[in-house]
Amino acid sequence: MLKAPRSIIHLDMDAFFASVETLDNPGLRGKPVIVGGGELRGVVSAASYEARRFGVHSALPMMTARARCPQGIFLPPRMARYREVSAMIMTIFQRYTPLVEPLSLDEAFLDVTGTERLFGSAADLAATIRAQVRTEVGLTVSAGVASSKLLAKIASDRQKPDGLTVVTVGSEVDFLTPLPIAALPGVGSATMKQLELLGVRTIGDLARLPVEILVRKLGQQGSYLHEAAQGVDRRPVEAERVVKSVGNEETFAEDIVDMVRIRKELLALAVKVANRLRVQGVEARTIVLKTKYYDFVQTTRSQTLAAATADDEVLYQAGCALLTQTLAGRKPLRLMGLTAMNLLSSGRVRPALLFDGEDCRLDKRRKINQAVDQINDNFGRRTIMPATLLNE
Ligand SMILES: [Mg+2]
Repeated sequence: MLKAPRSIIHLDMDAFFASVETLDNPGLRGKPVIVGGGELRGVVSAASYEARRFGVHSALPMMTARARCPQGIFLPPRMARYREVSAMIMTIFQRYTPLVEPLSLDEAFLDVTGTERLFGSAADLAATIRAQVRTEVGLTVSAGVASSKLLAKIASDRQKPDGLTVVTVGSEVDFLTPLPIAALPGVGSATMKQLELLGVRTIGDLARLPVEILVRKLGQQGSYLHEAAQGVDRRPVEAERVVKSVGNEETFAEDIVDMVRIRKELLALAVKVANRLRVQGVEARTIVLKTKYYDFVQTTRSQTLAAATADDEVLYQAGCALLTQTLAGRKPLRLMGLTAMNLLSSGRVRPALLFDGEDCRLDKRRKINQAVDQINDNFGRRTIMPATLLNE
């Protein structure tokens, strides 16, 4: 039995990091903005379309970028901020289907098969999503619509920036035939050279080449290329598993009784868990503390907070409160674990109300955490951490 064709949308933010920088600093609009360096080993991670005119593109060494575009505005990456914007975008995608497969912070596949009655055709839905990202986030996203992941991804790249390309069912081969082989994902310069030696310049040329020749020349990649050139791609869109909890635990080298040391270990756990929550773009409502003693007797205590959090300090304070309900300090402690549960996406967390003191404080803490994550991203993991952990 023939299965009905799938409807897949590939969404890809335009020059994402550079666009976020321009969003946060409108004075950069229309200028060659180049984001890179820092932890990303001295290469360009994003270039605005103005910078691309000077031959600057991602993965180019920063030195080369500076030579090609001396008037460029060079900025270090602010990963924490990009993750925050990414969470907003992914939240928009998830309004239409649970089948969202993020490929990176700024790219995702959506399987919208069967949503026509609710949201119109896949092409209409792609237009709706593009408009929502523009109005709600202030950035442009290009989209490709097709019956497979491969074709949707190739399509989203055809009319960048701010473009929408639809490959209708039945027109897949016509769409692929004239495209240069470089349009196929996974074809780098080495493969391209090999294929050019075989006289292959377009995907159409590739499709005509016998698969045996491709496999002899390129091994496994040859059979992928053969299928890809025919537009064959059966891979399903795989939604990210929903994270239910984030936790860390520590078995100590020797059992601990001293409460000062126990609290210090708890703080270290809180810092780790809070950071992992922020990396995943979620905040937790419930905190669980696990303690295990020298005799392997184990207890768990939990607390549900008034507001969701991804804050080191809040997690630590909640953990300290739970610690008073355990035998820690009275019985040698062998292991301690801190788990955050009941997770909400940060994008869905209620924005701070300006006149509410507590919300204001939480919002300030969020901004501080963002700044800390950013510095740790730029300069290496543990540049900033609570002073009590310094001698760890
Ligand atoms: Mg992109």
